[in-house]
Amino acid sequence: MNVLMIYTYFLSGAIGLLFLHHFILFILKFLLNPALFYLLTRYIVLPYIVRRSLFWSPISRGAAFIHILHWSGTLICNILGVNSAGAARSRAGSLALLHLVPALWTPQLSFGAHFFNLSLSAYNRFHRAFGWMALIQCGVHIIFAVRTYSFDLAEASHRNGFIAAITLSSATLFFLPLIRQWAYEIFLKGHNFLSIMASVMIWLHLEEKKGFDAFCLYFALGISVLTYIVYFLRQFYYNLVAGRPVAAADLIKYQDAVKLTLTLARPWKVRGGQYVYMTIPAVRALSFAESHPFSIVWWEEGPNGEAITLSVLAKIESGFTRALASSSHEHLRVWIDGPYGQCIDTKQYDSVILIATGIGVAAQLPYAKELLSRQLKVESEHLKGLTTPKRISIVWELEEESHEDWIYQWMDQLLSDDSKTLV
Ligand SMILES: Cc1cc2nc3c(=O)[nH]c(=O)nc-3n(C[C@H](O)[C@H](O)[C@H](O)COP(=O)(O)OP(=O)(O)OC[C@H]3O[C@@H](n4cnc5c(N)ncnc54)[C@H](O)[C@@H]3O)c2cc1C
Repeated sequence: MNVLMIYTYFLSGAIGLLFLHHFILFILKFLLNPALFYLLTRYIVLPYIVRRSLFWSPISRGAAFIHILHWSGTLICNILGVNSAGAARSRAGSLALLHLVPALWTPQLSFGAHFFNLSLSAYNRFHRAFGWMALIQCGVHIIFAVRTYSFDLAEASHRNGFIAAITLSSATLFFLPLIRQWAYEIFLKGHNFLSIMASVMIWLHLEEKKGFDAFCLYFALGISVLTYIVYFLRQFYYNLVAGRPVAAADLIKYQDAVKLTLTLARPWKVRGGQYVYMTIPAVRALSFAESHPFSIVWWEEGPNGEAITLSVLAKIESGFTRALASSSHEHLRVWIDGPYGQCIDTKQYDSVILIATGIGVAAQLPYAKELLSRQLKVESEHLKGLTTPKRISIVWELEEESHEDWIYQWMDQLLSDDSKTLV
């Protein structure tokens, strides 16, 4: 078996492990000493060795270890069994394609995170690691190609390869935090479009439309088509019910924020940590093509415990949210993409402190609601053996006193349910 195939199996195995990580963790927790878990979390998983900056996200010791493993494994694959510039060019090209497969396969990162049961930031890191490696291998491929052939733009294969390299680099540049913050939606759509264009140009660049390289592209295409179908079907399921129009949200304006409350077309069990992307075509000219994520801050439950309404709080920024705040409509049709997000399991704690500044409270309030409702359920149904919190504290740093209005009704409701536990 050649080195490239061995590397491919390793990489596929690593992705498989990522997919099964909850199950594997569950078994390991069962088998290993809890003290070992504590030490691993405290000294490997949580401590950061690189802090957040405008150019990169924070990197923990655990993530650095995985990156080193990935980089050194790929470097070995670049070198092992390669004995000419032509072989180095071809190996780097294949490695670029191999890394493009997982980087291309979801229409949206939250959807990928949902599928892998990972947090959005963890999936984002995974996506970036593969995207960057594809770009680096593409660079190595070009360096060795220039050494092997005389580069000629008149030749179709060279021209297509050149365009593929430019589009792939632009797709990566478009998503650097420094660039995308100028116009997030435009750069996001640009990133997706350029990634698809890069794949098409690579396909045209391939001299042989069979073998490993072509297989990678077919595989990426097959998975992308499949995930796009599931992605849209999921949205249709949550938004469309025969004989009913798409949900309309009530818009309430506060100082520096707006609240949207809507009745769900299809109820689901809302948990703390969930968020939805909202598309609201009536807000501004191109808002039918925008989708913005907001945490589910509040919901009303039906008799079976599933949410029948949900509310989000949006802080007014400078783009879509500002246009939403100046909208003259009181009711707006909303298309939802979601739910996404992972719930942090609080069952094991008997004291919980939720800390937020500003709009961050939108992500914390649902946990207070969920914890209290569990507490009330346990009390009313005399359930034994379930840990319920003895104390839930919310520490909220307000930027303006008037921001209290955003959530005071919900806080009052929680306090009237149980003011002993919630402080
Ligand atoms: C998982 C998640 C949950 C969020 N929950 C809330 C919430 O509950 N309440 C809240 O007020 N905000 C929340 N946000 C942030 C919110 O999505 C942005 O503030 C909003 O999209 C800004 O829109 P804008 O056009 O007015 O922003 P702009 O003024 O154009 O930009 C302001 C900031 O928002 C970011 N941003 C813009 N568009 C998007 C987008 N489509 N997706 C992600 N980020 C974007 C930009 O990078 C920039 O940093 C959440 C973001 C994420 C990723």
